[in-house]
Amino acid sequence: MNLDETIIAVSAPRGSSFKTLIRICGPCSFNGCQRVFELPPVRMLEKRQFFLRHQSVPILVAAFGGDQSYTGQDTVELQCPNNPYLVERMIQHLINETGGRLAEAGEFTARAFFNGRLSLSEAEGVCATISASNDAELKGATLLREGALASRVEFIATTLARTLGLVEAGIDFTDEEDVVAITKEELTQEVKKCIQSICAILDNNISMVSLHALPLVVIAGKPNAGKSTLFNALVGFDRVVVNSEEGTTRDAITERVHFGTREAELVDIAGIEQSVNAVSDAAQKKTASMMQKADVVLYCVAPQQTVPKACSNYLVIHTKGDEEHSKDGAISAVSGQGIDDLKESVTGRLGQQLNPNEHALALLGRHEQLLVEAKRCLEQAEMDVRVPELAANSLRNALNAIGGITGQVTPDEVLGEVFSSFCVGK
Ligand code: GDP
Repeated sequence: MNLDETIIAVSAPRGSSFKTLIRICGPCSFNGCQRVFELPPVRMLEKRQFFLRHQSVPILVAAFGGDQSYTGQDTVELQCPNNPYLVERMIQHLINETGGRLAEAGEFTARAFFNGRLSLSEAEGVCATISASNDAELKGATLLREGALASRVEFIATTLARTLGLVEAGIDFTDEEDVVAITKEELTQEVKKCIQSICAILDNNISMVSLHALPLVVIAGKPNAGKSTLFNALVGFDRVVVNSEEGTTRDAITERVHFGTREAELVDIAGIEQSVNAVSDAAQKKTASMMQKADVVLYCVAPQQTVPKACSNYLVIHTKGDEEHSKDGAISAVSGQGIDDLKESVTGRLGQQLNPNEHALALLGRHEQLLVEAKRCLEQAEMDVRVPELAANSLRNALNAIGGITGQVTPDEVLGEVFSSFCVGK
């Protein structure tokens, strides 16, 4: 990656919005932009006109010097109308004037990393924040981005580096009386301390991947059991068409719903019935597979309908409790009777949401692997305390593994992989 090139990209998600953001970063960003519009003083957002050949476009511009920018390099950000054709022309014009090029995926954050603005795990936190799809994931990503993991591994790295230095001094100066090498007891103690710190992270770690998938709560039952009405009641608005005519719901319809503190995907599926044609056959297959996958199946049974055979993930619900001849304890999605109790039962079934915090960090697979590797090397060092050369080698390997988390010791391929998982413009 060449940090001397000026890079340009749209730094807002695609899609329709009134405005978008173009970011220009690198050594020629200030001079190049100055040829197109007058730069405002740094960190001031000011109105300007962006002159293209046949028209001028109103923009808002801010400039950041390398010491204040996200990337650690001179950066100009401009807000402009989100017209893809116009944006493309503006970018082409900026490329010509700055001598720059289009940015690659994750290149802005990669620059922040290479310029020492972020550690690698913090950069991964930026990526995880962008792709987070629920509260728990966002919390885990925020901890990463704010450096919770980096600061804990930095402590381990500092202890390891100091210990390694002492062991190496002992090897280099064994003949000199005034240099006291670290004793075997002290070495063992330092190594144990590092192992403990790694275990404290690993034992409480929550894998980021496990946070991505929300539990599945599926509403099932025979046609007309009141599934869609219950779905709407739990979602809190009329998401699904409710009809007394059977077979209205064919496709699975999904919404995110909170059951207490637990977030889940709530799914309304086609009613369980004999399939009569290819369309209903497909719908029935989908229904069966969703019920099997579900963490909880809210099996709706209307008055006069039969109760299903028990199944471990079923919560049988008698519906239409406001009607005559309804079952005792039946809920009513129309009057709201029993809905709060039902939500509580689902919350209980779903159990506790894994909750990332300072003590239980959400880790990416790469972090976990490196921590396990560092622990293995330290256990080896513990066995090698009597042979300083071997102990030093194991300590160095452990230090390399730890350094790989923050990016101090990370092969180029790994860096490439980390930053390519970003989108362009980030
Ligand atoms: P689904 O086929 O299982 O999705 O059932 P729907 O939710 O579409 O409801 C079928 C019919 O039952 C509709 O006419 C609803 O208005 C009615 N219904 C659903 N829930 C209730 C309820 O709690 N009370 C009463 N009285 N009618 C309900």
